[in-house]
Amino acid sequence: MICPSCGKLASTWMRTALTLQGVTIVQSFKGQLRCQQCGILLRNKKYNKQMWYVLVVTVIVMALNILFSSHLRQVIGMGAVVIYWIILFIVILFLFVYAMWKYSVLEIVKAVEEK
Ligand SMILES: [Zn+2]
Repeated sequence: MICPSCGKLASTWMRTALTLQGVTIVQSFKGQLRCQQCGILLRNKKYNKQMWYVLVVTVIVMALNILFSSHLRQVIGMGAVVIYWIILFIVILFLFVYAMWKYSVLEIVKAVEEK
């Protein structure tokens, strides 16, 4: 995500994942953040279409896993399946945050709207 005001990286993905990025929780829910370079208030306008590919691939991977989960349980056992699902969930969550950060398109929030 590049800041449209200063042209630099508005936020690292770690900052996206772990902090509110300089705004309140309410603003954060509205997709707002502050640029880490120039401090301007930005808004998540939309996502690049790659984000939707990530979404589709995720759904397919999940569907395949659900489809084969009983087979997998017979092969590796229930305990291993639970661990497998937890790891899968974390990986998908991680990928999602990364994709949301990577493919986010930002716009500047006007000073009037800021209040
Ligand atoms: Zn900036």
